Amino acid sequence: MSTPHAQVVELFVTGDEVLRGTIADTNSATTAAKLYPLGFTVRRITGVMDRGEDIRRALLEISARADWCLVSGGLGPTSDDLTAACAAQAAGVELRLDEPWLAGMRARWAQRRAEPMPLNNERQAWVPEGCELLGNPDGSAPAFALRIDRCHFFFLPGVPREHHRIVDELVIPRMLAALHGTGHTAHRSRVLQCVGIAESKLDELVSPARLAHPKVRFGFRTKFPENHLSLAARAETVAEAESLLAAAEADCRKELGSFIYGQDGVSFAQAIGNLLVARSQTLACAESCTGGLVSQLCTEYAGSSRSFVGAFITYSNDLKERAIGVRHETLVAHGAVSRETALEMAVGAREKSGASWALSITGIAGPDGGSAEKPVGTVFIGIAGPNGVLEARANLFRGDRGQVRTQSAFAALQLLREQLTR
Ligand code: ATP
Ligand code: MG
Repeated sequence: MSTPHAQVVELFVTGDEVLRGTIADTNSATTAAKLYPLGFTVRRITGVMDRGEDIRRALLEISARADWCLVSGGLGPTSDDLTAACAAQAAGVELRLDEPWLAGMRARWAQRRAEPMPLNNERQAWVPEGCELLGNPDGSAPAFALRIDRCHFFFLPGVPREHHRIVDELVIPRMLAALHGTGHTAHRSRVLQCVGIAESKLDELVSPARLAHPKVRFGFRTKFPENHLSLAARAETVAEAESLLAAAEADCRKELGSFIYGQDGVSFAQAIGNLLVARSQTLACAESCTGGLVSQLCTEYAGSSRSFVGAFITYSNDLKERAIGVRHETLVAHGAVSRETALEMAVGAREKSGASWALSITGIAGPDGGSAEKPVGTVFIGIAGPNGVLEARANLFRGDRGQVRTQSAFAALQLLREQLTR
């Protein structure tokens, strides 16, 4: 078999819900993101509604042009679940009843419920002749693999939890095993996570490294407002793949410097939490226009309580005064959205919480409330810390309300990160 890069991989998703836009096709997105660093690039994604003719036609077309295809959905017990029958028709084979699977389904059913299993469910034990039954560790619809023409198809349930587990445990290992002896069996990958740098700039900075390391795949991913660089290498052995990867990574790190805050799935707030823990320090915040977003970021990872103390969500002027001691005169003279208020919010939050550091955010997220002097997107971010650290910065963020809030929260964390890494 050729290198993974040369193979044609496709995804095929079925289901009225997806095509109507009732649910987003997250199965395809997640699977494509898993396959890419392994060197399998998804060349095409096809989607059809639950119509037998459309499903059959798509299977036949894909079978003539792809090496691999992962099919999502339509393996359930209801009359709109047509995929197994269509697969059999496209392959020109009959459906057969898989007795062991049926027995397993009955046993599972008996464990959970008093009444007998509906006849409808038996449909799920019918699979095309000649397929490899892959099963389903979490459900009653069995996944199966079937070769049609040049293409290895994997037929998988649509339910995301079941779908992803089968991709991880049963599909990807088979795809990788097929590469044995091609010189591309071993695989290493890494994701370098950046903030404060635009995707185009990231691409530009690492492009010399990309040219210098042609055997390493470079990929870019935006997770607003972050930008991530993924590096992946394949070789005959793990050691060889790792050394290819390490050389490329070192060059990228040289270019990107402190834009990189972490790697391989750590979150931005978590990376900063780790810095605080290393210094035995803590953080609190006072949030106005972000309404708790910084607190959300600082508490969503396990172990956050080691560094995060809590937050004051002080949306109104009145609460800014009463909860964290912002002076009435300051609010009257400069307004809630001002450098002066941000400074007093940070000082107040630090004093009231007893944390080592406090961040404050006050701004105009929009779409209303802007003025010529303070347009929508104006956000003041303050910090108060040990050894007299006290400052507030003015920012002007672009985008809609959600984007302004997200950028504000990240900018606040970034302000702290600068203090912790200087
Ligand atoms: P079931 O036994 O539930 O009928 P199935 O294999 O027939 O499973 P579908 O009926 O297509 O799969 O989808 C089951 C559920 O899984 C859907 O209601 C939907 O919530 C979710 N789902 C289906 N396809 C996708 C997809 N492409 N991305 C994300 N979720 C999906
Ligand atoms: Mg279904």
